[in-house]
Amino acid sequence: MAELELENVGKSFGAVEVIRNFNLSVEEGEFVVFVGPSGCGKSTLLRMIAGLEDITSGELRIGGRKCNNVEPRERGTAMVFQSYALYPHMTVAGNMGFGLKLSRTPKAEIRERVERVAKVLQMEHLLDRKPSELSGGQRQRVAIGRAIIRQPRVFLFDEPLSNLDAALRVDMRMELSKLHAELGATMIYVTHDQVEAMTMADKIVVLKDGEVQQVGSPLELYGNPANLFVAGFIGSPK
Ligand code: ADP
Ligand code: MG
Repeated sequence: MAELELENVGKSFGAVEVIRNFNLSVEEGEFVVFVGPSGCGKSTLLRMIAGLEDITSGELRIGGRKCNNVEPRERGTAMVFQSYALYPHMTVAGNMGFGLKLSRTPKAEIRERVERVAKVLQMEHLLDRKPSELSGGQRQRVAIGRAIIRQPRVFLFDEPLSNLDAALRVDMRMELSKLHAELGATMIYVTHDQVEAMTMADKIVVLKDGEVQQVGSPLELYGNPANLFVAGFIGSPK
């Protein structure tokens, strides 16, 4: 059974159709990248999977369960945003544990899970800092930690590295790939950066104007692009 399935999913804002007939099946543990130019619908797709946006037509299934109308926090998804979206007045530990606090997890257990996640992300020494006392890369790690701690079925990343400088971006890419291998988690990763897509993905979904152009492994896309758009997009330097 696929971990995540979208069947004929469509999305309109008023009369404007921004996603058309989107089909995708993601296996447990797969790292899938949505790539395409700005405005093609990548964030809208992630937001529909997370439950932050209604699905206009079609069906979304997570772990085999129809989720079109399931509350966001009950879908088993966790999203990491480009802007980090950390709480500025809370410490790193507070930010990471906040979701668990809301779901009334006992304090001692929250602390224990925060420490475990901090260790995975090598942030044990930063737990008492505020976001303003962290670098960009460290902030993004806190945002990732906040997702990991919830032990979601599916991680959703929306251009998580695009606010980082080039060198750090390369480091973080490797860290995320390592994390993916360690957690064995299912991840959907959105980027407009074709290099990021080609280096990180098991499977790439190329989008243009709300429509899928091609789905395949990096090698398949590189060796056998479905059309000129895919060939141009994958082949063009960043
Ligand atoms: P991407 O993440 O690929 O840059 P988006 O998913 O943000 O693209 O946007 C896809 C299209 O949907 C764009 O044309 C955008 O203007 C439109 N759109 C996104 N959110 C809204 C909204 N809340 N209301 C109206 N149009 C929207
Ligand atoms: Mg976007």
